[in-house]
Amino acid sequence: MSVVVPCFNEEAVLPETHGRLVGVLEKVPELGFELIYVDDGSRDATLEVLRELQRSDARVRVIALSRNFGQQIAFTAGLAEASGDVAAILDADLQDPPEVLPEMLERWRCGADVAYGVRTQRDGESVFKRWTSKAFHKFNNRISEISIPLDTGEFRLMDQRVVNAFLNMPERHRFLRSMVAWSGFQQEPIYFRRPHRAAGQTKWSRSMMLQQAANGIFSFSLLPLRLAVWAGLIAIGLAFFGIGYALVAHLLTDAWVSGWTLLFIAILLLSGGQFMFIGIIGEYIGRIFNEVKQRPLYLVRERLGFPSPSPKEEPLQGPAAGSAPFNG
Ligand code: UDP
Ligand code: MG
Repeated sequence: MSVVVPCFNEEAVLPETHGRLVGVLEKVPELGFELIYVDDGSRDATLEVLRELQRSDARVRVIALSRNFGQQIAFTAGLAEASGDVAAILDADLQDPPEVLPEMLERWRCGADVAYGVRTQRDGESVFKRWTSKAFHKFNNRISEISIPLDTGEFRLMDQRVVNAFLNMPERHRFLRSMVAWSGFQQEPIYFRRPHRAAGQTKWSRSMMLQQAANGIFSFSLLPLRLAVWAGLIAIGLAFFGIGYALVAHLLTDAWVSGWTLLFIAILLLSGGQFMFIGIIGEYIGRIFNEVKQRPLYLVRERLGFPSPSPKEEPLQGPAAGSAPFNG
């Protein structure tokens, strides 16, 4: 089993996280495991702490990214190096309790391809965060082709073939829970209570959360684009009424000039709508632009504790060469 843990400025919590993970996994009979910590460009002593852990425990692998790429990319970098038959991902701050892992493993041994954590209760998260998260998931499920289960984060265990499916999606704007849901296979929920962060502060700002919500929606739904068509049709329908009104007012009454208020409102509304939809189209074009550039998803500065050199560290090859999805 491979366990992937993204770490961004987590020096305060990592020794405890490692202790709890090892304690739990060693108790599972007949389980060999590796722990892959991904340092996502931390500015504190995270990397030194990880080096220290690696020196004292040969099951620890460390990947240091060249800068901060974000949690989603950190997961990807870790999974790309996971050699287990099964891989789990969890946050470094112990909000995804390692004690749930044996139950997830048991599900996998009984045939599930994905066992994902569902939070029955969320301690220490603000009302704002819980509310916006819920609203986002409901909205997302309504408009996307792929539904994601409510109260689910990234905490999950995946069979190797699901991991491979995930790694074969080269897209830049990554949203793991939707991408895994998209892959299908047999996915089962495991319920757990989400505790407080064990130490340190949240590494997700509000703008990062918004960005992530946008990834969830724009990468999995074309509905915002289709809205433009519907808004356009409604505007045309209203325009027919306007034409009728203008003709009647012009031909049959002498109150023609007084119609300017309506004209003013119509111009404001329609130009506002047009700007909005240009913005939505721009959002998709921006994403196309990002994909077309074909940059690598991330760069690795350092790898520690891996038994073999990374297959992904081969020199860049054209897409036809195939084998290295993350080097574009
Ligand atoms: N994280 C990361 N890169 C980032 C932000 C966060 O690797 O740019 C990691 C972080 O170290 C933690 C996980 O992602 O292991 C979840 O972050 P956090 O606990 O701060 O988010 P929250 O639980 O508050 O949503
Ligand atoms: Mg957290």
